Amino acid sequence: MRISDIFGSNVFSMSVMKERLPKKTYAEMVRAMSGGEKLSMTAADEVANAMKDWAVEKGATHYTHWFQPLTGVTAEKHDSFITSPTDSKTLLQLTGKQLIMGEPDASSFPSGGLRSTHYARGYTAWDMTSPAFVKEMSCGTILCIPTIFISYNGEALDKKTPLLRSMEAVNTQALRILRLFGNTEAKRVLPFVGPEQEYFLVDREKYLKRRDLIYTGRTLFGAPAPKGQELEDQYFGVIRERVGAFMSDLNQELWKLGIPAMTQHNEVAPAQYELAPIYTMCNLAVDQNQLTMETMKRVATRHGLVCLLHEKPYAGVNGSGKHNNWSLGTDTGENLLDPGDTPNENLQFLLVLACIMRAVDRHADLLRCSASNVGNEHRLGAQEAPPAIISIFLGDQLDDVVAQIVSNAASIKLLASGQLDSGVSTIPVLNKDATDRNRTSPFAFTGNKFEFRMVGSSDSIAEANIALNAIMAEAMCEAADQLEQAEGFHTACSQLIHRWMGKHQRIVFNGDGYSDAWVEEAKRRGLPNLVSMVDAVPALTTEKSEALFGKFGIYTRSELEARAEIMYETYVKVIKIEANTMIHMAAKHYIPAAITFTTRLGQSMSAVSAACPDADLSVQRKLLTQVSSLLADASAALEQLKPLMGRVDSIQDLEEMANAYREAVIPAMAALRHPIDELELMVDKDIWPVPTYGDLMFEV
Ligand code: ADP
Ligand code: MG
Repeated sequence: MRISDIFGSNVFSMSVMKERLPKKTYAEMVRAMSGGEKLSMTAADEVANAMKDWAVEKGATHYTHWFQPLTGVTAEKHDSFITSPTDSKTLLQLTGKQLIMGEPDASSFPSGGLRSTHYARGYTAWDMTSPAFVKEMSCGTILCIPTIFISYNGEALDKKTPLLRSMEAVNTQALRILRLFGNTEAKRVLPFVGPEQEYFLVDREKYLKRRDLIYTGRTLFGAPAPKGQELEDQYFGVIRERVGAFMSDLNQELWKLGIPAMTQHNEVAPAQYELAPIYTMCNLAVDQNQLTMETMKRVATRHGLVCLLHEKPYAGVNGSGKHNNWSLGTDTGENLLDPGDTPNENLQFLLVLACIMRAVDRHADLLRCSASNVGNEHRLGAQEAPPAIISIFLGDQLDDVVAQIVSNAASIKLLASGQLDSGVSTIPVLNKDATDRNRTSPFAFTGNKFEFRMVGSSDSIAEANIALNAIMAEAMCEAADQLEQAEGFHTACSQLIHRWMGKHQRIVFNGDGYSDAWVEEAKRRGLPNLVSMVDAVPALTTEKSEALFGKFGIYTRSELEARAEIMYETYVKVIKIEANTMIHMAAKHYIPAAITFTTRLGQSMSAVSAACPDADLSVQRKLLTQVSSLLADASAALEQLKPLMGRVDSIQDLEEMANAYREAVIPAMAALRHPIDELELMVDKDIWPVPTYGDLMFEV
């Protein structure tokens, strides 16, 4: 197998279109894709027909409008190409109309009140900027047409519509900035994104014995295994055979879909891994990340494995995130975040940097909110992932440049990056990077891009990028508004950079983001510390947020309110499912197992006493006492949790209910887990009803 033979073979790409479409239609398509003009119905029919023929040659039987509702995963409803069957014959068809628009009965998707069930219409509309592809699945080979999903009134019911809107906003504003610097060539500025995806693998047989993994994607009980990640022998370690076979298969499936899977390695925790693709334009990266997650799950099954995308499958070892690498680039190949060799003299870069500092400082709350999902609650601020406080890491060199600008230095010098001598004569002296890395920062500059490290592993990267694009559009718009009016551009620009960097320097932090000292320091600087998702949701509907998103037509007020409502709702539902699963497992698995253990122990003690009245039974008695006492604790915790759920569920207001789940239900869940994890360490392995952490993490 050669990568070049299979790469993109399942994608209806530009080159396939060029090959299969009449010249005129292809040209029309290109113009329509760049937003220049609407596609005519005749052209749409031709494109649809060519797409159908191509897909059928690939073995496709159905097509689907593939979209990204507010559930955070993708949705599809398959329609076969079969049409008007007569006399045991049928034609295969895909019309331009079918390609462009669909109307799924969409009343069962979350809409946050945007669409009540009796007004159930939702429309899917073809997103030409993301190519169609075929997906080979057990239910058939399906032609997938990427679409947006909107309500009867045009409100976005998905994550893709606002993403595309945000890309347009940042494009318009960034072009204004480029024009100020005399760039007349660039026609488009695009956000580019490369998401690094972390995940766990677990043996499918063992997975199926754990109701918590099945229902919630994470373990809700489990004592630590004797070995965790303390030896640091897993990270970048040699990849095991079975996992390697999975990765190889996965890469091939992704390459076929045109997803440039690039790096693969073992991650920090046992049975944890990472995959990163080569970055691409933001909307495509969002689609491809969704497809990557889906493909991971599907391919894992073929290898007798299950892929866990949850942010925290196991307590006590690292969880999984998704580093969202983000930059802005032109259609002519210029990266606006590239500082060049002399960032101190690169006025355009410094202006972009000032805009980023302003954007992130102003909207730290929105960025925090964009990376919120229920699983991520276990990660952020937990000493393995960035804290919940947003700050920017610039590294020594840029930090120093900013400090000089802020202090109005006459000429701005650059710290030398220096050379690295290993002391081994046969190893050449290396040129060092200008900056070291800082893995504790949520938003780190890494050479020519920012790495937003907060996003959760199971989450869509759409929200994070909507927020990034929007806040940058706002800052660039403001800069352009001021500078377009200015008399002397260069002086005005330098002054603006000086002002903004001074005003927003508090958002820059190069130190240890995991330390308690930083929490204090951030408080002193007035930076928000939104510990939980529940604290972060209100950021969506502030006046500041409404002004930002409204200005660029990314979200209306009702679209924002809908998203806030869905976030609370999801929080409540997820925790509720977790609590119910715990109740089920405690009542059906753990408590009966512990009772069996005590019964057997009691019987064996009687038998021993009968056989040998003088035998010392103190060990057994102590064990029986301890186990019985933990059993009583578990039972009491269970009895508390059950009625508590009823009380919390009767709360009318959604935000209040979410807070009650957080403040009352989560501690009650912890109280139930504690005695059961203790019991696991005492009860015989052959009685214990489920695979343990050791079984799950070390037998992959
Ligand atoms: P790092 O060493 O910082 O992790 P990598 O080169 O491994 O950087 O890249 C991590 C991810 O960042 C990859 O998906 C990569 O394609 C992506 N990336 C690299 N350059 C850019 C850029 N200019 N814009 C967006 N993403 C980028
Ligand atoms: Mg990285």
